[in-house]
Amino acid sequence: MISLHSKNENPKRRICVLSSGGDAPGMNAAVRAVVKMGLYRGCEVYIVREGWAGLVAGNTTNAPTEVRQSRRAGTYKGKRDTEGENFAATYGEGELLQEGAGEGLKGRHILKVGWDDVRGWMDIGGTLIGTARCAEFREREGRATAAYNLVSLGIDALVVIGGDGSLTGADRLRGEWPSLLDDLEKSKRIDSEQRKRHAHLTITGVVGSIDNDMAMTDITIGAPTALHRISEAVDSIGSTASSHSRAFVVEVMGRHCGWLAVMAGLACGADYIFIPERPPTTEDWESEMCNLLKSHRDHGKRKTIVIIAEGALDRQLKPIKPAYVAEILTKRLQLDTRVTTLGHVQRGGKPCAYDRLLATLQGVEAVESVLDSTPSTPSYMIGLKENKVSRTSLMEAVKATASVGDAIEKKDFKTALGLRDPEFQENLEAFDYSTIIEPKKDMSRSQNLRIGIIHVGAPAGGMNAATREAARFCLARGHTPLAIYNGFEGLWAEGGNSVQPLSWLQVDNWSSRGGSELGTNRSLPADDFEKTSEALQTHNIDALLLIGGYEAYTAISSLKKARTHYAAFQIAMAVIPATLSNNVPLTEFSVGSDTALNALVDACDAIKQSAAASRNRVFVIETQGGKCGYLATVGALATGANIVYTPEIGMDLELVQKDVEFLKRRFALDIKGKSDGRFIIRNEKSSQVYTTEFLTNMLKEEGKDLFDSRAANLGHTLQGGTPSPIDRARACRLAIRCIKFLEEHSTSRQAGAKDDSAAVIVIENGQVRLAPIADVAKNADDKNRRGLHPWWLDLRHLVEILSGRRTLAEGRHHEDTIGATS
Ligand code: ADP
Repeated sequence: MISLHSKNENPKRRICVLSSGGDAPGMNAAVRAVVKMGLYRGCEVYIVREGWAGLVAGNTTNAPTEVRQSRRAGTYKGKRDTEGENFAATYGEGELLQEGAGEGLKGRHILKVGWDDVRGWMDIGGTLIGTARCAEFREREGRATAAYNLVSLGIDALVVIGGDGSLTGADRLRGEWPSLLDDLEKSKRIDSEQRKRHAHLTITGVVGSIDNDMAMTDITIGAPTALHRISEAVDSIGSTASSHSRAFVVEVMGRHCGWLAVMAGLACGADYIFIPERPPTTEDWESEMCNLLKSHRDHGKRKTIVIIAEGALDRQLKPIKPAYVAEILTKRLQLDTRVTTLGHVQRGGKPCAYDRLLATLQGVEAVESVLDSTPSTPSYMIGLKENKVSRTSLMEAVKATASVGDAIEKKDFKTALGLRDPEFQENLEAFDYSTIIEPKKDMSRSQNLRIGIIHVGAPAGGMNAATREAARFCLARGHTPLAIYNGFEGLWAEGGNSVQPLSWLQVDNWSSRGGSELGTNRSLPADDFEKTSEALQTHNIDALLLIGGYEAYTAISSLKKARTHYAAFQIAMAVIPATLSNNVPLTEFSVGSDTALNALVDACDAIKQSAAASRNRVFVIETQGGKCGYLATVGALATGANIVYTPEIGMDLELVQKDVEFLKRRFALDIKGKSDGRFIIRNEKSSQVYTTEFLTNMLKEEGKDLFDSRAANLGHTLQGGTPSPIDRARACRLAIRCIKFLEEHSTSRQAGAKDDSAAVIVIENGQVRLAPIADVAKNADDKNRRGLHPWWLDLRHLVEILSGRRTLAEGRHHEDTIGATS
């Protein structure tokens, strides 16, 4: 996902990071990553307070005294810790921590920061270094002053975290840099030596925008958290709407981009959405909307939810406003309608797991790209494409972003929609299908199928959303969705009551429900092929959709193998991987893994608070996940854990010993009474010997007066309560693809099923495909029940780097800091 090996390490770089424009949750995690990675790579790191405004204002007073090392020179193994002192001197507290919000920050906007300045920033919303709109920076004079401030502090690289406006500003600064410096030299604000030394400014953009409105990246920092806030709000509105049989019109952010509205519509099971890129198809959209919503009411729905992006337009570019929509619903459908404008609530709160991860990975990559840059490389924007952190030309990204707005202005909606990524369009299609009741004539297939839907294995967040979408898509296409209750045991049950058609209304509230509405267990078809075959025939099941984890994959695999003996298995079958462990081979993400990650992050935040409050405490947190370390590794990165243990890497005495030494050294460096506490994440199956209990006791013994330890087992809480919106939307998208696959691969049983008619839907490089069982089997480690080449495995290195373990336990800072301090 990310390269950890910069080709062009330059230990003398001075990197400066700022956040600008609208704040976005996750910006702090990005700043934290830039600071830590920058220091790790041997750079000096500065932060700018208050965005471009701070860069223009600069420092009007001098820096206070240098780092207060003496307070931090701890002892280690009873001796003076020269390694630790070195670390503290270079990495420890920078100006931020020393001065806090006190007098020292007055008149100073560009501050040198250290490792501990950004400690604990991961889970804080907004941006701690401040942001501001800055009119001066829009003018050349303002940018010249900003350039002067950078040059006078010897800074030659800038990481800008912000939206398209901020990055446009960044692009202009870089474009004008040579001429700005010429002007500064002419006016004698800088000398020729400075002019020469700073001939080149490296700029890297990291996109922080809750609207997800930047082109050339699939997602921007803050958008997933905003989606969380919206989903929480719409879920809450749903229950009151249902109680009073009301309609609600909810306005969400998105001036030029409907991502939030589409995702929220899908995740929350809304009835209608309006977005800027795709206005209603007809001029008389009011009637179109009313007809659809009336059909829902006629079907017995007690609530109506309409979501409007703030930039929604009709075909003539006339804004569609919530109050007008509410008026239409009241007048034409006599619905008791209320308007809710979510506004700034969407920006707020703790960043969700996805944002923390995204911001961390992008912050790291920003530093790498700075170090790789040469005068001939373009300024980069760090994005995410196909689940890989990517670098694209900042200039091109800024241009492409503007072109969406241009296309909308020209009423060229096809182009506007085409400029969004394919996932956006698939999600839009999924939303549309979820609102259709009667099969449209052109949709109804000649072959109407009876499609069985079954949950297999442990529950996972999003299973119900997948079932809802599959059922509704089936109904819209003229098929019969059949719920198979209680897994394969239900299928085998006498009397046949546990196999029932699902109705449109029945699944209405399932999007937001956790657990499994159908019921799930670990029984497998191989436990009784005879009964499985009989039941499939009795219920005339033409195709099967399995939703579950490794068991679901095992189930379909065995059904396929047994096809030669059982004609009933000669049907199309598909699996939607749904498990918190994320251990299904080939796929990067299974439904439920995002929910679990969020549950883990929430629990760790609470535990961290306790660890910090009691000072000097190490928590050993145990996670589920079977023999797959996904949740532990990615969770460790998203929470800022110091150490992670996984079954893939295992544990041995040497490793544990090194980790203990690291913790001792790290705690010794803390200012007495100011330690925040730390934590370790350990997957349940990392080692049979070095158990969570063992580790906790050992740390207690070894920590002596430096630290104490406690254990916390997160257990089943990781299945999560309410599924995350990302899981819900992902579940819907995968469900539609699977049903389409079942349609395409359903042949008459007599003709026999083709080999590729049994598949697992997988996300590979961010792309969705149905992988034939043979492909999945090739990538499966059946003994350990996990995939062979997990994409996230290397992320553990980042955990080590960002916790300081690499530097402190292995003495690496020596080679890094020699350059930085000279
Ligand atoms: P966002 O970055 O969230 O899109 P804005 O559009 O408000 O937010 O931009 C933030 C800041 O970036 C502005 O206040 C301004 O200082 C700077 N900026 C925006 N557009 C430009 C531009 N075209 N040229 C120079 N600076 C710009």
